[in-house]
Amino acid sequence: MSVKALYAMTIGGRSVNAAASLDVVNPANEEVIASIPDASQDDLHAAVSAARAAFPAWRAKPYAERQEMVRAIGGVLSAHAEDFARILTAEQGKPLDDARLEIGGAAYWCDAIAGLEMPVTVNEDSDERRSETRHVPIGVVAGIVPWNYPVLLGIWKIAPALLAGNTMIVKPSPFTPLTMLKLGELLTDVLPVGVLNVISGGDSLGPWITQHPGIDKVSFTGSTATGKRVMESAATNLKRITLELGGNDPAIVMPDVDVDAVAEDLFWAAFRNTGQICIATKRLYVHEDIYDRLKIALAAYAKRVEIGDGTHQGVKLGPVQNRLQFDRVCSLIADSKANGHTFLLGGDVPNVPGYFIPVTIVDNPPEDSRVVQEEAFGPVLPMLKFKDVEDVVRRANDTIYGLAASIWSSDEAAAADIASQIEAGTIWVNEVQHLTPLATFGGHKQSGLGAENGLEGLLEYTNPQTITLKKRSAAA
Ligand code: NAD
Repeated sequence: MSVKALYAMTIGGRSVNAAASLDVVNPANEEVIASIPDASQDDLHAAVSAARAAFPAWRAKPYAERQEMVRAIGGVLSAHAEDFARILTAEQGKPLDDARLEIGGAAYWCDAIAGLEMPVTVNEDSDERRSETRHVPIGVVAGIVPWNYPVLLGIWKIAPALLAGNTMIVKPSPFTPLTMLKLGELLTDVLPVGVLNVISGGDSLGPWITQHPGIDKVSFTGSTATGKRVMESAATNLKRITLELGGNDPAIVMPDVDVDAVAEDLFWAAFRNTGQICIATKRLYVHEDIYDRLKIALAAYAKRVEIGDGTHQGVKLGPVQNRLQFDRVCSLIADSKANGHTFLLGGDVPNVPGYFIPVTIVDNPPEDSRVVQEEAFGPVLPMLKFKDVEDVVRRANDTIYGLAASIWSSDEAAAADIASQIEAGTIWVNEVQHLTPLATFGGHKQSGLGAENGLEGLLEYTNPQTITLKKRSAAA
C-alpha cells in the first residue's frame, strides 16, 4: 500500500462508510497506511437490524448448507491469501511468513470447524415418551477481536457462530481492522445479505455493542480488564458471553532437559509474535542446576534472531503493535531498571521510528516484581530460578490468571504429574502453543469464561433446548 488506502464496513451486504474516520498506522514505521470508518451508533443499529433480519432464514438453512458456507469462508481466505498476508503485516507488524501462517491457519480452522456435527442427546426413549436435548442458535452474536491475531481470532468466532446458525456483527480492533474489513467485503459474494456484518470504530463502539439490546451474545477476546467491563455491561439484557482474556503463562523447566535443544523452543515460546500472544510463556521457571547453562544458550540463540520491518527478508520479529502497548512494555522495563534488576538481554529501547523493543530477559527478578506479576504482552521475559517442584508449582499458580502453561522434562510421567497440579485451561508437556480447532481452549480464573474451539466452543453459540414428546400410545 503506497498511499492511504480507504476501507469500508459491510452492513446488510452493502459497503458502508461512516461520517467520521480513523487512521490506521503501520507499527514498523509509524506511517498512516489507511483510513477506516468510525462507526456511529446509527451504523451499529443498522448492523444489528441487518443481522436480525437475516437470522430466521439463516437458522432455517440445513446444517449441511451452513457447513459448506463456512468452508467457503476458508476458500476466500485461501484464494486471497497473499493479499491478506501483506495487509496483515502492514497493520499488525508481524513478519510476512508469520502473516501467511496466520491466514493459512484461519482457512484451515474454517474447514475443520465446518466438519463438526451438532450433537443431539436422547434423554429418554420409552413407551411413554421421547425426550431429547438439541442445541439451537442464540440469535445475533457480536465478535470483538484483539490486535495480535486479528484474522485467526476473528475466524475462531465467525466459523462456529455462523455454523451454529447465528448471524453476526464483527468488530476488529481499531489498531488492526483492515484484514477483517476486507474479509467482510469479500464475503458478500459468499454469504446471504446480513449474515456477517463487519463494523469498525473507536473506543465507544465496543461498549455500545455490549450494551445493545438487539445483540444476544458477545464473544470477546482481549484483556482481562476489558473482559470485566464486557461482563458487567452484558448483564443489561443477560447476553450470553464467552471471554478469552489475558494470561501470565509459566513454563517450568526441569533439570533433566537437553538444554541446547530446549533453548530454541523456549525462546519462541516467549517471543513469537514479539511476545504478543495470550499463550506466550510469560514467566520462565528454570531449575537451579541448569539455570546458568540455559541462560547462555538462550542468549546465544537470541543473537541470531533479526528484529525489524516484517516485510524485510530474514526478519523474524516485528515491532510491538501499537504505541499504547509499546509504552506499557517500556514501563515494565523501566520498573525493572529502577529496582536494580539484572538484564540478561535487552533493556535498552532504541530511539527509531516504529515501535521496536529488543528481546529483553530479566535475570531472576524478585517474584513480587511487576515484570513477574503483570502480563507484559511484549518482548520482555522474567527468567526465574527454582529448587523444588512443590515451590515452583506454588509460584506458577500464584496468579490471577489461568490460561496455559508448559512443563519441560525428559521424564514424561513426572512432567505429567506436575501438569496435573497447574491451575490453567491448557497445559503442554515439552511443547507450547500447539492449538487445534478440535481441542477445547479456555481460561481458568481471570483468564476467561467459557471456551473456544472443539465441540464445546461450538456449543457456546447455542442454547440447549429439550423437547419432550408424550407418546399417544402411552396416553391411550
Ligand atoms: P483490549 O481488551 O484492549 O481490546 C480487545 C477488543 O475489545 C478490541 O477490539 C477493543 O477495541 C475492544 N474494546 C475495548 N474496550 C472495550 C469495551 N469497554 N467494551 C467492549 N469492547 C472493548 O485487548 P487488546 O489490547 O486488543 O489485546 C491484548 C489482550 O488480549 C491481552 O491481555 C491478551 O492476553 C488478550 N488475548 C487473549 C486471548 C485468549 O484467547 N485468551 C487471545 C489473544 C489476546
